Amino acid sequence: MSQGRIIIVSGPSGVGKGTILRTVMQQRESLHYSVSATSRPMRPEDREGVSYYFVSRERFEEMIAAGELLEHACYAGNYYGTPLRPVEEALARGESVVLEIDVQGALQVMQRRPDAISVFIAPPSYAELKRRLAGRGDTPPDIAARRLHIALEECRQAKHYQYTIINDSVGHAVQELEAVLTAEACRTSYR
Ligand code: 5GP
Repeated sequence: MSQGRIIIVSGPSGVGKGTILRTVMQQRESLHYSVSATSRPMRPEDREGVSYYFVSRERFEEMIAAGELLEHACYAGNYYGTPLRPVEEALARGESVVLEIDVQGALQVMQRRPDAISVFIAPPSYAELKRRLAGRGDTPPDIAARRLHIALEECRQAKHYQYTIINDSVGHAVQELEAVLTAEACRTSYR
């Protein structure tokens, strides 16, 4: 049985990570998507246990204290974190685990799991990022502005990742992520 790997995927809000990941996961059955825990309020499109496990701030802090999270971060005022046990169980089954997480969390995973694959999805330009963020009808302008600021900060952190994929078109970005995963599966050693 081939060994599973942790695959970290980050990129600013609105860059299209979700669409790219959904497509790649449909093509590869041996990938397990890690459902995060968060203290942020649910959005209309969210589903409990699918988008996230929605918990209170108090419960989230208990999870941190009990060591139940592989990593966690505070993003736009809310907690987000990766439950550790499902990741370990999937890896033990030989599956690779996709973590769609922010840069702060990604840096923690890179330290704890040096064999993790790290991929940053970047927008083709500032103008395009701004357009995509504004295009989300459900986001009030002040929150969109805050997210744009965070997004620009995040783009500056791409240098910490092993791979950067520019999402100029979904088809192209999917192809590049596929290429990364194929190349990583062929590696003889990780370091
Ligand atoms: P959203 O609230 O739009 O679903 O996500 C906001 C940000 O939190 C995104 O950049 C997303 O990748 C990040 N995020 C989601 N889950 C986790 C997690 O478990 N850990 C960390 N560190 N970030 C996460």
